[in-house]
Amino acid sequence: MAKIKTITCAFCKGKGKDPFEIMSKEATCQVCGGRGKVAVAKPYVKCAHCQGTGVSPNSRNVCTACGGRGVISVTDGKKVCSECHGSGRAAESDLPCTTCGGRGVV
Ligand SMILES: [Zn+2]
Ligand SMILES: [Zn+2]
Ligand SMILES: [Zn+2]
Repeated sequence: MAKIKTITCAFCKGKGKDPFEIMSKEATCQVCGGRGKVAVAKPYVKCAHCQGTGVSPNSRNVCTACGGRGVISVTDGKKVCSECHGSGRAAESDLPCTTCGGRGVV
C-alpha cells in the first residue's frame, strides 16, 4: 500500500496563491487549491523536468511532468529512464525527454 505524505506545494512554495499572479494577486494556487500543501504517494522523487520547482522550465506554466507538485511518485517497478539517465531532458536540448515525459523514471 502506498503511503501518502503531505508536502509543501512546490508551485506556490506553500503560500497558496498563484505565484505569477496571472489571474489576480489573490488568485489561489491551481496546484494545491490554496492549501499550500499537496498530498503525494510515497516513495517519490524530485521531478527531473522542473528540478522540483513545480514550474515548467522557461514558462509560467505548471510543470506537466509532476503537475506542479515538484515531486513524482514512483512505484517499486519504476526505474531510472535509460534514455535521459534520470535527467528528464532530451539529449542536447531543454525539451522534456520523450521516453519518460520529463519524469526521469519510467
Ligand atoms: Zn500551491
Ligand atoms: Zn515537475
Ligand atoms: Zn527520460
